[in-house]
Amino acid sequence: MTSKHAVVAGGAGFLGSHLVDRLLAEGYRVTAVDNLITGSIANIAHLETDKNFQFVKRDVIEPFDIAGDVGIVFNLASPASPIDYLQLPIETLMVGSAGTQNCLELARRKKARFFMASTSEVYGDPLVHPQVEEYWGNVNPNGTRSCYDEAKRYAEAITFAYHRKYGVDIKVIRIFNTYGPRMRVDDGRVVPTFLKQALLGEPVTIYGTGKQTRAFCYVSDLVDGIFRLAESSEHGPINVGNPVEMTMLEFAEKIIATTNSKSPIVYVPLPTADDPMQRCPNNTKARERLGWQPKVALEEGIAKTIPYFREKLALA
Ligand code: NAD
Ligand code: UDP
Repeated sequence: MTSKHAVVAGGAGFLGSHLVDRLLAEGYRVTAVDNLITGSIANIAHLETDKNFQFVKRDVIEPFDIAGDVGIVFNLASPASPIDYLQLPIETLMVGSAGTQNCLELARRKKARFFMASTSEVYGDPLVHPQVEEYWGNVNPNGTRSCYDEAKRYAEAITFAYHRKYGVDIKVIRIFNTYGPRMRVDDGRVVPTFLKQALLGEPVTIYGTGKQTRAFCYVSDLVDGIFRLAESSEHGPINVGNPVEMTMLEFAEKIIATTNSKSPIVYVPLPTADDPMQRCPNNTKARERLGWQPKVALEEGIAKTIPYFREKLALA
């Protein structure tokens, strides 16, 4: 990489804004490109006077250019919460397809690296467990989650096509459930929802049976995985996630205990079909090829996240 100028599509989002912070700390100049559809200026407000940072409000579904040299283009632009993409199915499909191609075109023109934020959702409701990168997945192509799953599968496909046809130096990460400060309190994902409910003493809503499993990664660990892959010679896809798996019932109990809450647990119908029954990363490749492993245990990560939610909920 000759230029230390990074473009981060989706840079005003939860993960994107933490990635921007890390890149700036590592001596990069950063341009965040975001249409704020699910992100927020508040996530990057602390960078307003940083001369190495600029924000460009733009929809990457439309072709776009960035002046001057660029060393790497990160594509994190996409609604990511199931509740968000249920409401934004076309936007989600378009940003995964046209948006990804526009980011790839920028990388091709600038002779820059291209980093694609893919997802564990490409495995769908997995029949192989824990998930290894070689597994092709079990995805419903037209169900309510398909706008996200298939957009990301297409994004992986076009990223590899640009690599094979044009020689673009690509990096594809498959991100597993990640949490931390700057998640929107109302984004509908399980971590902000349970934390908000527990902190407010409201019923904690388990969707379906609560027997479905997930494994949660703290944001600083995930960003470290992104950074290591971006600077490596690997192309991926590489799974990055914390492999400590639990049921959503166990997770609800943990959040209630950690927040010292009196919230009851209630069971409500699943809002989306095809909610994966089990999900947990096999991290062997990330460990062996990137020297990466998660450092922040769930209790510690939740403790680091609570003050942000208390502030957003205006709790003392
Ligand atoms: P987020 O919603 O906070 O961030 C996404 C950002 O992309 C937002 O700022 C949004 O405004 C922006 N965006 C969306 N469409 C855009 C468009 N057309 N043009 C420009 N900007 C656009 O979500 P997040 O959790 O930070 O996720 C970031 C990326 O990581 C997403 O691509 C998501 O699929 C991927 N990912 C996240 C997780 C997770 O657990 N957080 C898991 C797997 C994959
Ligand atoms: N979930 C839940 N209650 C909620 C929100 C989510 O039980 O209020 C469950 C959801 O059904 C899923 C898991 O928590 O099985 C993780 O959901 P999330 O939306 O965070 O992300 P996903 O892994 O499904 O993309």
